[in-house]
Amino acid sequence: MTMQLATAERRLTVPRLEIDLEAVAANSRLFAARATGDLMAVVKADGFGHGAVAVACTALAHGARWLGVTSIDEALTLRRAGIVAPTLSWLNGLDADFEGAIRQRIDLAVPSVEHLAAVATAATTLGRVAQIHLHADTGMARDGAPAAEWDALCRRAVAEEAQGLVRVVGLMGHLGCADTPDDNANARARSAFAEFVRTARRAGLRPSMLHLAATSATLTDPLAHHDLCRVGAGLVGIDPSGTTALRGAMTLSAPVISVRDVPAGTSVGYGHTFVTDRATRLALLPLGYADGMPRAASGLAEVLIAGARRPVAGLISMDQLVVDVGSINVTPGDTAIVMGPGQHGEPTVGDWAQWSGSIPHEIVTGLGQRITRVTAPAAQVPAVGRPPARLRSLR
Ligand SMILES: *Cc1c(COP(=O)(O)O)cnc(C)c1O
Repeated sequence: MTMQLATAERRLTVPRLEIDLEAVAANSRLFAARATGDLMAVVKADGFGHGAVAVACTALAHGARWLGVTSIDEALTLRRAGIVAPTLSWLNGLDADFEGAIRQRIDLAVPSVEHLAAVATAATTLGRVAQIHLHADTGMARDGAPAAEWDALCRRAVAEEAQGLVRVVGLMGHLGCADTPDDNANARARSAFAEFVRTARRAGLRPSMLHLAATSATLTDPLAHHDLCRVGAGLVGIDPSGTTALRGAMTLSAPVISVRDVPAGTSVGYGHTFVTDRATRLALLPLGYADGMPRAASGLAEVLIAGARRPVAGLISMDQLVVDVGSINVTPGDTAIVMGPGQHGEPTVGDWAQWSGSIPHEIVTGLGQRITRVTAPAAQVPAVGRPPARLRSLR
């Protein structure tokens, strides 16, 4: 059963974002089958705007064994929802709540000696061992320890292991150019990672999990898979490598608030950047850049209304946008489909990304909190160690 679009079901009174967990399930199965090793569902940024708990539960029920997030806060949100699956948090400041993380058995990525010391201190206070993944900079000059600091980090980790404070279970890197599989930078990053691993083993570490790949490398570069593929974008239908048909998982719709017939020469919106060149009909939608409709898409964007793709007229405002519907018969209360998987002719997340000079990731993570979210079918917390609990509304 696929989810019905809002238009088919009922008239909307407010904008509505429908999340199709069957699409997330199908994408999860695809990635679990592709990954040489295990699949980690990356549900940072509220599951790429699709709901972290709902996406996590769905992915776990369809092949994922791990969850990955940026901050400890995000990991604790998953635990509070009753999710006990192995979870890794990889980007935290030195004064982050490492004690809270260790107490909740959240694995921590460690990119520096200073972070290692902070985690070891928290482990000492709690009298518990912290599970950690040393994070190497494999060529982005972003997160992860640079090569020059790696040996010292590994040696210090061996010492902390001997103290019983940490257990190094993983080594991780990240690929900066995996979206273009032919780029030589990918082979260089893989070699760099191999060298980081050799150094770690020489220092005496025996990690059981090596991980380097995200969505694109999982789809295009089996040499990068190792023991765990960390997949986020792909679960919600975004394939930055452009190689694989995935299922989009969100549909954004909005009611037409008002309709007006205007003569040729009518200026529309701020700055009068659009002037009608003929008599036409304008429909107003209550969605704007505060809701994540990128203002940069003004002049290019379209929506699906009464079965036809019609252009957005003038600049997108903070809370509203105007659609030039031409001579189509549109009345207040009709539904416009602003973006979706595309099967009904509506614009896709990728279309909005293109119109605004961005990437789909920015579109899906940018949708505002005042949009009503509806998630179906209901996700269940996997019954691992705890009774399943029905999820509450993810508003
Ligand atoms: C976001 C992120 C991922 C997931 O990347 P996708 O391309 O969305 O699959 C994996 N690893 C790290 C370190 C990340 O920050």
